[in-house]
Amino acid sequence: MTLDDYGTIMGIMRSLNSGSVVAGLWRTRGIPLFSVMGIRVIADYSWFLIVALIVGSLSLGWFPSVLPNRTMIQYVSLGLITAFFFFASVLAHELSHSVVSIRNGIPVRKITLFLFGGVAEIRSEPLEPGTELRIAIAGPIMSAFLAATFWSVVVILSIRSGRPAAQFSFLYLAVANTFLLLFNLLPGLPLDGGRILRAIVWRASGNKRRATYVASMAGKALATIMIAVGLLLILAARQIISGLWLIMIAMFLRQAADASYRHATTNRAMRDLRVRDVMTRDVVTVTVDVTLTDLFERYFLIHHFIYYPVTSKGKLVGQVSIRNIAQVDRDAWMNTKVGAIATQLARESLLSPSDTIAHAVSRMSRGGPGRLLVIQDGELVGIVTRGDIMNGLQMRAALGR
Ligand SMILES: [Zn+2]
Repeated sequence: MTLDDYGTIMGIMRSLNSGSVVAGLWRTRGIPLFSVMGIRVIADYSWFLIVALIVGSLSLGWFPSVLPNRTMIQYVSLGLITAFFFFASVLAHELSHSVVSIRNGIPVRKITLFLFGGVAEIRSEPLEPGTELRIAIAGPIMSAFLAATFWSVVVILSIRSGRPAAQFSFLYLAVANTFLLLFNLLPGLPLDGGRILRAIVWRASGNKRRATYVASMAGKALATIMIAVGLLLILAARQIISGLWLIMIAMFLRQAADASYRHATTNRAMRDLRVRDVMTRDVVTVTVDVTLTDLFERYFLIHHFIYYPVTSKGKLVGQVSIRNIAQVDRDAWMNTKVGAIATQLARESLLSPSDTIAHAVSRMSRGGPGRLLVIQDGELVGIVTRGDIMNGLQMRAALGR
């Protein structure tokens, strides 16, 4: 199974971890495997579980059942080789999306292999439905090509009938790629078929958000059907493992479908909302001539902020944090002024009230400061923290706008 994400992987992981609301502040974890065509291929920790499951089921189940009376070494070798080509097929599918994405001017950050397949993480959402359609369909076209190739090899080998081991290995790959193709074409987000559906509705209606809504609802409906089928497998057919596996995938798809829609609305909110809509006004500032003793007793102990902008004659000149004061010997606090320990403000930590929230988030996410000062005509008018942004976005979501 393969999932494509186009930037919503953060949203998916977010809903799994129920962590940060702001996608841009999230980072993936895993082991870098290699780079291909400038794209990093990362193995999420969960991927090793599926590798073990597939190698195990091939070596201990599939090959011993179709090719009896071989040695264990032969079964394990066949299992490893076949699994290698299976994962190469998954990677080829993702690379296919990636190449088309890059050709359409949308860079690809990385491809992550994980428990349920692979995800090509592209840097931004396609700006028009035609691009969306081309990127979405590229993966299934690759899987169709691979399936057709493997089926042809199976047919050729069965006519010559000299190499049963190779024949069964190719049969497995042909079936697996056919499955990848058909499964990915199911018309619901986050699957490729869902992307295709979204592109079609987007083109017909001209409304991307509406199209995302339709495709994610279709994804949730599909997931619900899969859960029902999984339950049937367990209760009626006693296929407990297959049933549970199907239910797990369906639950993942459901959350991902949800996340796709939330991601779309969050993106919109991040473009629409301005810094002035979420910033905290009435910032507590400290002047350069305050002593460190006063700074500690009248600011840190009373307001409980760990950071204060520093002003001189009403103008913003720097910043002081609990770390700066901690570096000064306590005996010297009486005779040291804030101006002496204040640090410079980086240009990246300054915003204008009319900047978008997306802009503020991108400043924070690139290892930038966790709080940004809002300046208008040289005057400090507010401060924005990650918490302010999340509150703003959550309030927007709660109002359903
Ligand atoms: Zn795909």
